[in-house]
Amino acid sequence: MMLPSWKCLGRVTGGAAWRCLTGLLVVFFASCDTHQLPRDESLASLAGRPAAAEPVASVPPAAELAAPGGQTQLNESPGLGIVVSGQQVPDVNSPITESIAPEPQIPAAQSLPVETNSPDHTGAISALCEQIGAKLGSVEAEDCLAQAFVADDRRSVKGRPLLFKEVAATSEAGEPFRVLLMGGVHGDEYSSISIIFKWLELYSGQALEGQFHWRFAPLVNPDGLLDGQRAVRQNANGVDLNRNFPSADWNSLAVSYWQNSAGSNPRRFPGSAAASEPEVQWVVQQIVDFQPHVIVSVHAPYHLLDFDGPAPAPSNIGELYLHQLGVFPGSLGNYAGLNRSIPVVTLELPSAGIMPAREQIALMWRDLVAWLDQEGRRKLNARHTARHEDPASAQPSTGLP
Ligand SMILES: [Zn+2]
Repeated sequence: MMLPSWKCLGRVTGGAAWRCLTGLLVVFFASCDTHQLPRDESLASLAGRPAAAEPVASVPPAAELAAPGGQTQLNESPGLGIVVSGQQVPDVNSPITESIAPEPQIPAAQSLPVETNSPDHTGAISALCEQIGAKLGSVEAEDCLAQAFVADDRRSVKGRPLLFKEVAATSEAGEPFRVLLMGGVHGDEYSSISIIFKWLELYSGQALEGQFHWRFAPLVNPDGLLDGQRAVRQNANGVDLNRNFPSADWNSLAVSYWQNSAGSNPRRFPGSAAASEPEVQWVVQQIVDFQPHVIVSVHAPYHLLDFDGPAPAPSNIGELYLHQLGVFPGSLGNYAGLNRSIPVVTLELPSAGIMPAREQIALMWRDLVAWLDQEGRRKLNARHTARHEDPASAQPSTGLP
C-alpha cells in the first residue's frame, strides 16, 4: 500500500491533491526520495535484501575503480576499536553503529560568533534548499528557506554550503547547555536529514528546550545526498565521513581496518588522511567553535541507540534502545566521544527511506530533551560541588567535564 508523506498529505488537505499524486508517481519513476515508497518496499528490500540491511547506494566511479563491488553487503565487524560497554557486539549482519568524531583540544570558552550570511552565502543556501526540497519527500524548499540557515566559508567538495542554525537559550539560569545536533553525515540516509527539519519546525522554540543552546546541522554531507540521481553514503571524494574523523587511532588503524575488516568496501573508505575531507573539517571546526556539551548524530537504518563517551548514556530515545557497539577508527564516536570526552548520542532510525511515525518523532524529541535536561543538571551540580569544595575553580567554566 502506498503511504503518502506528511508533505503529500498536507498538500491534499490544502486542496492540491494533484501534486500529491504526481509526487507519488515521481517516486517510482525518478528515484527521488524514498520516504514515499511503500512501507514494505524500503530501499533495502527493493534491492532484494532484508529490510534491516543497509540502504543501497551507488558508488562514485573513482571508488569503484579502487575497490569494485561497492554495493556488496557490508562486511565489517564492529568493535575493532574500543567496545565501550563491554556488551557483546552483533555479527556482521547486525546493525552497525554510525557515530561521528572530531580532534584537537577544545579551547577555552569563547563568545559564540554571530553568523551573518554574505550575499554569496544567501544565494548558495537558497539553491541548496531548492535541491533539498526537490529530493526529500518530507521537506519542501520553503521549509528549508524558512529556517534561515546560515553557512560559513567552508563548503563541501562540490562547493555546496554546509548549513547550520543556532537556536540560543532563552533561559537565563546560568550557562546554557550546548547541544550540536547533526543529520545527513551519510548522504543516503534520508530520514536522518528529514527528521532534523521536522524537529526544527515542530519543537525548537518550545519552553523546555529554551534552556539549551542548540546548533542544528541537518545535512553534513550535501554532495552525498544531491550529487547524483541516487544518493550515496560517501562524500564526493568517495570517502565515508564517519571514518574520516581524526581519531587518535586513525593513522595506525583506519586504512588497515578498512582493508582487513571492511573488505575494502568503498562505502567505508576512510580517506587518504585523517580529516582529509572538507565536511569533516567543518564538523571539527563546529566542535571547536561551539564547544558542545553533547553531540547528537542521527543516522539510519539500524534501529538502535548508540552512545560513546562519558556515561551515563540514555537508556532509550523513543523506540530506539541503547545498544552500544563500540567505535571505528575515524568515527565521530571515537573522535568526539572517546578522544575528547564529549558524549555522543547516535540515533539510528529504523529506516533510511521511511520517516518514523509522527508519534515516534515526537517521542524521540521528548526523550532526547528529557535526557539532555538530566545531563545538563548533572553537569551543573558537579560544577557547583567543585566550586564549593575548591573556590579556586570558581571561574568561568568551559562547561565540559
Ligand atoms: Zn550512517
